[in-house]
Amino acid sequence: MHHCDSPASCEQIEFDNSLVCNPTTGATAWHIDGKRLVYENEKFIAISHTWADGTGAPIDHKNASDPDKVHVNKCLFSYFAKPAKDRDFAGIWWDAISLPKNNGPLRKQAVATMHEMYAKAGLTLVHDRFLLECAVRDDMEFAARPIILSPWFSRAWTALELPKCKKVIFIFKDGEFDLDDENVVANLNELLIALNSRHSTYTSDLPIIAGLLTGVSVEGLTSPEIYQRIVRALKRIPCQHLLHNEIGMDVKSFCWCPSNLLTVPKALGRPELLAKADIASDGAAAAVWRVVDLNETTRPELEQRERAQSPNIEIGAILTGTSTTITQHLLLLDLYDRNLKKAVIVKVKNSRTSEIHCQYIGTVRLKRILEDDSFGAVKLTIGDTSGMSELGQETAVDYVQRVWKLRQGKKQGKLRLGPKRVGSGW
Ligand SMILES: [Zn+2]
Repeated sequence: MHHCDSPASCEQIEFDNSLVCNPTTGATAWHIDGKRLVYENEKFIAISHTWADGTGAPIDHKNASDPDKVHVNKCLFSYFAKPAKDRDFAGIWWDAISLPKNNGPLRKQAVATMHEMYAKAGLTLVHDRFLLECAVRDDMEFAARPIILSPWFSRAWTALELPKCKKVIFIFKDGEFDLDDENVVANLNELLIALNSRHSTYTSDLPIIAGLLTGVSVEGLTSPEIYQRIVRALKRIPCQHLLHNEIGMDVKSFCWCPSNLLTVPKALGRPELLAKADIASDGAAAAVWRVVDLNETTRPELEQRERAQSPNIEIGAILTGTSTTITQHLLLLDLYDRNLKKAVIVKVKNSRTSEIHCQYIGTVRLKRILEDDSFGAVKLTIGDTSGMSELGQETAVDYVQRVWKLRQGKKQGKLRLGPKRVGSGW
């Protein structure tokens, strides 16, 4: 493969393969001048590519009598060396020139530890002909799909090199794309769509792929840990993602988040028009919701959603009227989408602060639109409520009003209950 305009006259660079993996230094990455291997203290980037593109195999030796000499197209070496040089890396690790050629123990060892080179490299540069033909700069939100569909991705994935990489840069038609600085996936919706496009190929690998696409380091983490990092990295997510039908995580601050993040429902509507929740560093989700009192009037309007797994016992008790704490709960409706027939049930706790904190209980279906029953737009934090006391006899609605009054002081009027909604969110 060439990256020059005149392949016919393109020169080749010769590398002395006998130097690679030299027992003294063990070095395998070449200095960007192409003349020596890197020294131990010199940093290098790793090239990850698709062999089928012709970027893998060195060219047949011009001088067959010297089997230690390896030749590659000069333009290709320069092409790979440039990003290294631009970022102050001394060398590149490229399997075409960085693996011992003789089929001896050194080569075996080098091949067996190839993936470690991606971990050692300060940066991995991804080169794939398919991606080189995709332009994404104008719409970076959609870079995930070409990456996930690229031949490189399938291969890199099976080669286990991708999860090891510290930092990944993809080369697209219109430039380099830094997986760290500008995450390929900046929102959960796009992640769901991207992963869905390859869903059948990977199953247990999905959390790791999801982590990589969102620029989250994944090594040594469990799936829920990866998902927690992703959510924190996204910082803001549409509230609709909280209207899922799963059991929340076993981590209190992430109680609203399903163990498998990929089971959250896609948010419907234009991204800029969606109600969003801010994710705190511990994972708690703070958002403004339309709040509906959960009482004997609204209770019959709710129904349990079908669950593949075990039913949500707390919701079951609330819906059947056997819960003794129903008044401590609130129904949360999406702030903008008034046609959404789903609501989150939360249990409000006494935080003894001017903020309203609650515990995620689950999602219910609405038999009818409850818009008129909404008593206001209220900002609440769904997260870790351990250490906070129960409301006891005070209802959630009374508590919310009390906190609201405390916060507003005397300068504003009262929050009205009942069918009329309070205008502005607070
Ligand atoms: Zn060339």
